[in-house]
Amino acid sequence: FDTWLAGDPEVRKLLREEAVRQRTCLQLIASENFTSPAVLAATGSVLTNKYAEGYPGRRYYGGNQVIDEVEDLARRRATELFGAEHANVQPHSGASANLAVYQALLEPGDTVLAMRLDQGGHLTHGAPASITSKIWRFVAYGVTPASADPARPGEVIDLEQVAELARRERPRLIVAGATAYPRVLDAQPFREIADEVGALLMVDLAHPAGLVAGKAHPSPVPFADVVTFTTHKTLRGPRGGAILCREDLAKRIDQAVFPGLQGGPLEHVVAAKAVAFGEALQPSFQAYAAAVVANARALAEALAAEGFRLVSGGTDNHLVLVDLRPFDPELTGKEAQEVLDRAGITVNRNTIPDDPRSAFVTSGLRLGTAAETTAGMGPSEMARIAGLLVRALRCRHEDAEVARVRAEVAELCASFPPYPELERAQEA
Ligand code: PLP
Repeated sequence: FDTWLAGDPEVRKLLREEAVRQRTCLQLIASENFTSPAVLAATGSVLTNKYAEGYPGRRYYGGNQVIDEVEDLARRRATELFGAEHANVQPHSGASANLAVYQALLEPGDTVLAMRLDQGGHLTHGAPASITSKIWRFVAYGVTPASADPARPGEVIDLEQVAELARRERPRLIVAGATAYPRVLDAQPFREIADEVGALLMVDLAHPAGLVAGKAHPSPVPFADVVTFTTHKTLRGPRGGAILCREDLAKRIDQAVFPGLQGGPLEHVVAAKAVAFGEALQPSFQAYAAAVVANARALAEALAAEGFRLVSGGTDNHLVLVDLRPFDPELTGKEAQEVLDRAGITVNRNTIPDDPRSAFVTSGLRLGTAAETTAGMGPSEMARIAGLLVRALRCRHEDAEVARVRAEVAELCASFPPYPELERAQEA
């Protein structure tokens, strides 16, 4: 790719810089990963040239014989991977997948019960800034209060509140799933509540999709009417979304994606999704998923030992949500993210439940282990990462110490290159 970009030195320079950043800094954003070279190859393939509005066997453009096979392969692999009846692999993103489901199952003004953004939900779960809240009426549930009892730390989904709100508000749809929730997402109680009030159940599996595929997290597929997910987080595929559903909903879902919401599908990305699903079907993917969870636990324990408070007391999945206040009451999520950027540690600030600070400033950090697990790191590296992170935050006003941390980060990353095969090919 570098050679092919020779004619555009400006873009080539930027791509090289980003490759260096990814190779020399710690990638701890919970929604990111390093895809395989095969996923990169499909994403950068000639399939980007093709228009293919419609679905396999029913396209509005000619020349789609190969594209039909590609999309069918992606759909087959997705249904096999998750044990689902039907898959739509065309959503351009997780947000479009969610919008398509709402469009398929709801009338404007219908009530939806979903998790509040500042308690861990996603923008598309009815946040005031999202178009979802302008078309449908969202009612929000949250997590239980934090408790000082280490045996029952709280900050888990408040199922009593979900049931109470469902009985009172009679939603047409209940959404389970979150963007910053470190615990198991158990779909069964949501199914029971949905059945009691006659609601449909959508699980937004964006974050743990790869853990479910790798059998390190229970599957919501047997309980949900519809499951949406992103393909680029723990699942380790290209940027994009997908929808799984029962056969009886397939037509409505497909029509809502196209022509309801999107035009031509990104078939190069669909091919890359097929590659990622194929990789996730391999036994080695289960070892990866288990390692992601083990690494998150190790990182959580090391951070707790350094004086951070862990939201919900720990983690069951790939992410850790840290409350910075007990570590340093003056330190905001915004400042911590900026300091860590200078130290080569890439994280994102995040609100914590009942955060007194705004979503722009926050009192928390969200860290994930998927990317560095893919790069080959294990629990001992997680402990080292926690140490580096703490040093950078403690010495944030001393530029020389932050620079020393950055050098150590680069040294650690050098032992775990995300694309060793590409580096070997370049050297040869
Ligand atoms: N749903 C959840 C729970 C998410 O965490 C995200 C992304 O972070 C999305 C949906 C949206 O995905 P995308 O950014 O691909 O639109």
